Amino acid sequence: MNIVFIGAPGSGKGTQSREFIEKYKFIQLSTGDLLRSAISAGTELGKEAKAFMDAGKLVPDDIMVNIVKGFLRDNRGKSVIFDGFPRTVSQAKSLQQVLAEQELAIDRVFYFKINPQILIKRLTGRRVCTNCGEIYHIETKPSKKELTCDVCGGSVVHRSDDKEDVITERLAQFENNTGPTIEYYRSTNLLVEIDGSLTPELVFKQIQNVLTL
Ligand SMILES: [Zn+2]
Repeated sequence: MNIVFIGAPGSGKGTQSREFIEKYKFIQLSTGDLLRSAISAGTELGKEAKAFMDAGKLVPDDIMVNIVKGFLRDNRGKSVIFDGFPRTVSQAKSLQQVLAEQELAIDRVFYFKINPQILIKRLTGRRVCTNCGEIYHIETKPSKKELTCDVCGGSVVHRSDDKEDVITERLAQFENNTGPTIEYYRSTNLLVEIDGSLTPELVFKQIQNVLTL
């Protein structure tokens, strides 16, 4: 099974991905995570991508499509959640093509709908463990000891792409690029709208009700 999660940064799709990975053995294609690991490994691709991300800009399609191809080749036969990709109609069409080459297709696309004001609040307070990826929030889920991960003891940081000016830019980009992508998937009857402002438990139920797992 292949499903796509579409939602602005902070809409809760990352939390849901972790739930579905744990409970239903999905694996996640997160271009954000793949890009960050490419950057910390210092690959050519990572260096190219970093320049775009530092400026709060989206990484170009050709770089993204190459990452996705490699990931699918390495993970044949597994159920995949696509998170943060595709963002544009052109990426959606590329993905369809890449999947078709491997005799695969998208089963469902979930759109996490949520008010931008809630998003900004969620994101500027977000902190992430640089070691294990555990996510904290200064108001709703602080780490017990400041700047230290409860799970692994690693250091907890405010990522540069979670700062307010970068977030505002990312949300504007999201609107511009993803609006047409949502309409594209609606026209193919794959789109399911989810209320992203609800609790993680209720969001999980909404998705679970649609999928035959
Ligand atoms: Zn940690």
